[in-house]
Amino acid sequence: MGRLLKGRGYSEGLALAEVLIYSRELPPVPQDPASDPEDDVRRLGEILDKGAKELESLYEDAVGRMGEAQAEIFLAHQTILEDDYSIREPIEALIREEKMNTAAAIDRQFRELAEMFRSMDDELMSERAADFDDIRQMLLRIALSSTVQDISKLDKDAIIAAEELTPSDTVRMDMAHIKGIATRLGGPTAHSAIIARSLGIPYVSGIDDAAEGGLEGHPAILNGTEGWLLVDPDEDEVCRFKESRAEMEAQMKDLEDYIHKPSQTADGRSLEICANIGTPAEAAEAVSAGADGIGLFRSEFLFMDRDDLPSEEEQYLAYRKALAALEGRPLIVRTLDIGGDKKLPALPMPQEDNPFLGLRAIRLTMANPALFRTQLRALLRASAEGNLRIMFPMISSPEELASAKAILNEEKAALAAEGLSVDPPVGMMIEVPSAAVLADVFAREVDFFSIGTNDLTQYTLAVERNNAAVADLYRPDHPAVLRLIAMTAQAAVRAGIPCGMCGESAGDPALAPAFVGMGVTELSMSPKRITAVRKLLGSLTWEECRDMAEALIGAK
Ligand code: PEP
Ligand code: MG
Repeated sequence: MGRLLKGRGYSEGLALAEVLIYSRELPPVPQDPASDPEDDVRRLGEILDKGAKELESLYEDAVGRMGEAQAEIFLAHQTILEDDYSIREPIEALIREEKMNTAAAIDRQFRELAEMFRSMDDELMSERAADFDDIRQMLLRIALSSTVQDISKLDKDAIIAAEELTPSDTVRMDMAHIKGIATRLGGPTAHSAIIARSLGIPYVSGIDDAAEGGLEGHPAILNGTEGWLLVDPDEDEVCRFKESRAEMEAQMKDLEDYIHKPSQTADGRSLEICANIGTPAEAAEAVSAGADGIGLFRSEFLFMDRDDLPSEEEQYLAYRKALAALEGRPLIVRTLDIGGDKKLPALPMPQEDNPFLGLRAIRLTMANPALFRTQLRALLRASAEGNLRIMFPMISSPEELASAKAILNEEKAALAAEGLSVDPPVGMMIEVPSAAVLADVFAREVDFFSIGTNDLTQYTLAVERNNAAVADLYRPDHPAVLRLIAMTAQAAVRAGIPCGMCGESAGDPALAPAFVGMGVTELSMSPKRITAVRKLLGSLTWEECRDMAEALIGAK
C-alpha cells in the first residue's frame, strides 16, 4: 500500500506520475572538505558546462519570449562564466589548496566577486554584483541537484509538489508534462488553483509534506476531486486509478454533446455560459469547449512572466486576437487586477501587511494613470473590431467608478479626435460588499455587472481566499454571500442591465441554478466546466432555479 497524504482538492481530476519538487529556495551549501579534490575539480568542469548550456537555452528562450534586448542579460552571464581567470582557476585553487568541496568553492568565489563589485563606487559596476549572485545561484542549484528548475520545459511527465505556487509559476509551467499539482499552502480561489482548473490539471493543497525532498522522484497518484496524494502506490492502487480515470473520461465524452447545445433552462429561458481566460490563445480553446463568449479575460496575465510592461500596440494585438477567435461572441476584458496574490516583475510595489486590502486592481491602476490609460487605449482601439466590453475590477465606491469612467471618457475623446469613434459597453465587477450593497446605485452608472464571488466571499466573511489555515471558513455558499449576490442580481434586473458572474461559484453545480433563479443571466467559468453546467441548467425550469435560490438564502 502506498503512503496516503491528505489535503484538499481544488481542481478535479486524476494523475499518475513521478513527483517533482519545485522550490525557489536553495538547500544549505555543505561545508565538508573535498575528500578527493581532483574528483571535485572534475565535477566543477561538469557544472560549468551545464551552466553554460542552461544560459544558452535561457538566452534563446528569452529572445523568443521577450526580444533581443531583454535577452542580452543571458549573453552577459555567458561571458562571465567563460572567464577562466576569475572563475574556473580561482575555484579550482580553492578546491585543491583549501580542500573545499565544489559547491562551497563556487559559493565562496562568486560571493567574493559580487562583494567586490558591490563595494565599487561606480553605480554601473556595483549593479553587476547581482549578475554574480544570479550565476552563483544557478551553479549551486546544479551542484546541489536542487530543483529550482525551469518548470517551463520538462522532459517527462510530473506531479509538481511545492510549498506554494505563485500565479506566475503556474503560467510558466510546461503544460504538456505537468499532470498535477500538490502544494502545502494555497486556497480554492488562489489564482494558481484557478489556473489549474482552467487547464484541467488536478490540484491538491494542504499536503504538509509537499515540499519535502523525500517525495522527489517517487511515483504518485494525485486525486484532485477527493484531495489526496498517494505516494508509491501498489499494483492494486494503480489498477483502481486506471479504472477511475477511464470512468472519468467516459463522463467527459458524454458531455461533449453539450458543446453545441443552446444555453437555456428547461423552459427555454435564455442564458449565456461563458469562459474565463487569461491569454488570447485561450479564447479559441474556450469556443471549442462550447463557450458562448468570454465573461472574464483576466488581462493581468498579459503582464506576467515578463520583465517589462506590454505596450499599447502589444495589448491591442492581444485583444484583437481574442476577438478574432470569438467570431462575434462577446469578450469582457477586465482592466489590470494586480495586487493581492498577483505581482508584476515590471511594477515593483511597496510591501503591504494586507495586500488584499491594499493597493490592488482599480486602486493600483488609478495610482498609475499612464499604465491605466495605455490599457484603456488598447481596449478602445480593439473594441472597433469586435464585441468587446470593458470591465473595472474591485470597485468599492461610486466616486471610484466615476473617476475610472472619467479617465476612460478622456481616452475615448482623444481617440475620437484622432478619427476613431468607439463606445464599447462598460461594466464593473461586484466583488466588494460595498458594491453589492449599493448595487442599485451602481446599476444606473454601468452597462453590466459581473459578480466576482472569489473576492466577494473573502471580503464578506473576512476570510483570506488563499490561506489554507482558514480554508474551512471560506464558504462561497454562506447565506450572507448569497444574499449579497441576490441583491445585486435583483438591482440589475430592476435597472434592466445584465448581471453576470465570473467567480468560481459560477461553475459550481451546487450553486449555479440558484444564481440563475436570482436573476443572473451569464455564468462565466473555467472552460472545462461549461458542458456540465449547461447540461444541468437545461434540466431545470426557471421556477425550480428560483426555489433553490430562495431555499439557499433562507427566504423559504
Ligand atoms: C473574483 O474575485 O471572483 C474574480 C473573478 O476575480 P479574481 O479571481 O481574478 O480576483
Ligand atoms: Mg476578484
